[in-house]
Amino acid sequence: DDRIISPAPAPGEQYDRALRPQTLSEFVGQSAAKGNLKVFIDAARGRSEALDHVLLFGPPGLGKTTLAQIVARELGVGFRATSGPILAKAGDLAAILTNLEPRDVLFIDEIHRMAPQVEEILYPAMEDHVLDLIIGEGPSARSVRIDLAPFTLVGATTRAGLLATPLRDRFGIPLRLEFYTPEELTAVIRGAARKMGAAITEDGAMEIARRARGTPRIAGRLLRRVRDFADAEGTPIDRLAAARALARLEVDEAGLDSLDRRFLKALIENYGGGPVGMDTLAAAIAEARDAVEDVIEPYLLQQGFIQRTPRGRMACARAYEHLGLETPPAPPA
Ligand code: ADP
Repeated sequence: DDRIISPAPAPGEQYDRALRPQTLSEFVGQSAAKGNLKVFIDAARGRSEALDHVLLFGPPGLGKTTLAQIVARELGVGFRATSGPILAKAGDLAAILTNLEPRDVLFIDEIHRMAPQVEEILYPAMEDHVLDLIIGEGPSARSVRIDLAPFTLVGATTRAGLLATPLRDRFGIPLRLEFYTPEELTAVIRGAARKMGAAITEDGAMEIARRARGTPRIAGRLLRRVRDFADAEGTPIDRLAAARALARLEVDEAGLDSLDRRFLKALIENYGGGPVGMDTLAAAIAEARDAVEDVIEPYLLQQGFIQRTPRGRMACARAYEHLGLETPPAPPA
């Protein structure tokens, strides 16, 4: 996935780490999630207890990993990170769980992609802080119970609906992350530029923010590339320099890239604007359905380019206007 506006981290995006906000107050936006977290963190700290398990859900690049690290820091406890697909065997998770210190935060990214046998040992660990392991095989097999330190699981997933209900129900604190407003992203970009030592004007930051798909990871990446162009031209990043660079990166005024436009075009030109099923659409642009649903669709929905109906996806008037196509007559009421 090499889209410039892909919300997934590209290999070697170490700057992600350097630019990460370290505290809740440094973390821009997400006021609802942040406000709730602060109350629960303060309460857990006051009682010297482990914080209840937290589920963070929302599209990639909105700050789930960052927020998990901040939770550990604000609690003053250790942080361990892993991900659903990495945990192949129950023993992989058991090894991590038995090494946690009391009240540590364990972050599991893509928790919806855990193997069933791993998920099974996670349930009693979350609920009763115990591990039930089977030792040996056949008639001599026996089960042993190991006590664990009380810990906080922070799970991250793109959509809450991807989790099995029993797993979802074990999170006391479910938090949905929302796309950021252009104003919030402007603040993210100003902060990142400061850390990078890049010269940027207020309207330069705004120009990038408007086109960053409501996503801090994309804002950071666009900033890097725009800075390269501005450096090459020997100018600070002002509005015009940003707009020129973004045009060369094929990120349009609405922050859509060629893949977004391809999706909208397929919907309108191949399927008359819908309704059409997601499988069909994903096939039409030769992308995996999961990727389309996680990465392309949420922003197009939020921005009113498309809508979801029981019969499939439909293009809205904004999609026609954006592509410079004639809007079809409204269907009879
Ligand atoms: P996710 O885990 O949801 O995919 P990350 O936590 O990895 O997202 O965040 C992606 C990038 O965006 C990181 O470089 C992080 O520093 C930056 N970022 C995310 N949220 C914020 C925020 N609220 N304020 C500033 N930077 C942020």
